[in-house]
Amino acid sequence: MQIRFECNLTGEEYVTQKAWRNASLTHCPLHPEGGCGFKRHSTYKRLSPSGTRIARWYCRQGHCTFSLLPDCLAARLPGTLAEVEAVVGSVEQARSLEAACVDLRLEIELPGVLRWVRRRVQAIHASLTTLKGLMPERFAGCEPMLGAFAEHLGVDGVLPVLRRIAAPYLLSLPAPLGFRPLHPRGGEQDRSQQQPAGPDPPVLFV
Ligand SMILES: [Zn+2]
Repeated sequence: MQIRFECNLTGEEYVTQKAWRNASLTHCPLHPEGGCGFKRHSTYKRLSPSGTRIARWYCRQGHCTFSLLPDCLAARLPGTLAEVEAVVGSVEQARSLEAACVDLRLEIELPGVLRWVRRRVQAIHASLTTLKGLMPERFAGCEPMLGAFAEHLGVDGVLPVLRRIAAPYLLSLPAPLGFRPLHPRGGEQDRSQQQPAGPDPPVLFV
């Protein structure tokens, strides 16, 4: 299970400061009363940004691992929210999805690029639409576009800010902004999620 690690750092700062060492979870989210064998677990590694580690806790009774994902990182996709934002922002400003894809991910063929980009654009726009419904007093007048939300909030890097604003709703918002899986099956594997045998269910990261 992913838990938000409130952390006002870029991906690079998170790595250079080894900020996962500052993550803490004082009690088990499943058993706040305690007595379930809740304890700190080993960190796991993400490939991107290089050097990233994620702090984890484990509930023995619930057989559940809790990963503390910092606000700068994408959920269930490799890399940072800033990287996702750059892709979605470029599509919003391009005349078409295909036009935006021309300069992206040149190592794979265009249909693969289109899927890669479309997955990010659809997930983020779905999150913004859901967020408008959940917080109408805050976002009612905003188009469900990153550019509109950034202008409304007066920030450049809008996704990490939205991770904070939407904190109570992260389980209702699709990854990579929220913690709900992109798709029940499929999705995009971050190879770094192939963890050694242990109690962490790999299905969390499809
Ligand atoms: Zn527990």
